[in-house]
Amino acid sequence: MGAPDEPLEERIEQLLENDSLRDDPLFQPLEELWAAHRDLARRIERISRISDAYQSLTKENEKHLTKRLDKQLRQLSKVARISDHYQKMMHDLNLALREASTHDPLTGLGNRRLLLERLKEETDRSHRYARPLSIAMLDIDYFKRVNDDHGHELGDQVLMEVSRVMDAQIRDQDMCGRWGGEEFLIILPETNISSACQVLDRVREAIAALRMRVGDESITVTASIGVASHRDADTYSDTINQADWALLTAKRSGRNRLARADEIGTD
Ligand code: GH3
Ligand code: MG
Ligand code: MG
Repeated sequence: MGAPDEPLEERIEQLLENDSLRDDPLFQPLEELWAAHRDLARRIERISRISDAYQSLTKENEKHLTKRLDKQLRQLSKVARISDHYQKMMHDLNLALREASTHDPLTGLGNRRLLLERLKEETDRSHRYARPLSIAMLDIDYFKRVNDDHGHELGDQVLMEVSRVMDAQIRDQDMCGRWGGEEFLIILPETNISSACQVLDRVREAIAALRMRVGDESITVTASIGVASHRDADTYSDTINQADWALLTAKRSGRNRLARADEIGTD
């Protein structure tokens, strides 16, 4: 028999191995109890093995899920970056489209569409607040000759130079744009006809002072201008017609000059 300080299980095993104790009435129940205990211990061990396996499986699954989530998050942020990039591209494209649809590609000035938008705004404002507004039409003199004598390419260069000078001479609140061919419209808000004439004479003189090189020579061009003051009862088309009529008068009077609609009896 084992000593009392030995572990209980060892002591029981020693008792059950001792054949001399078989006749003891407690031997049989102890043997059965021991077998039941061993069986229970085996079951507990199996359950804890299963539980360990399950736990490590859960951990593996968690790891796998976290990895998948991380990957999906990375993909999502990549998609968001691409989408931001496309949005910016669309925005830039829209700006470029707006620029292309409202500007003349040769001179860079606003085209007829932009001029009409601005004309509408300025005539509305002039009506609403009873403010003065002048509108001028400028046409390059004998421009056909420039093309005929020096070629279309030089003609284009003249158009660019004239546009640059015109744009530089008008004031910040004014707008000049290409009406078509070698004709330009100048809108002068908050400006009565006398003040408009001062600005426009400056424009005309600056164009006449331009020198453009053609080989060893240089050529000059002049422009004629007609100006009209917008009246409350009129539409902007009426005012443009008056400016056009004044321009015709400037041409007929010898070109390189400015004519006022109010001085030639167009009313
Ligand atoms: P006027 O003094 O009476 O205005 O005479 P002009 O020769 O300027 O007028 P006309 O209407 O007879 O000729 C205009 C010329 O402008 C004809 C056309 O070929 C030219 N033109 C129009 N647009 C362009 C352009 O974009 N580039 C070039 N190079 N020429 C142009
Ligand atoms: Mg002309
Ligand atoms: Mg013309």
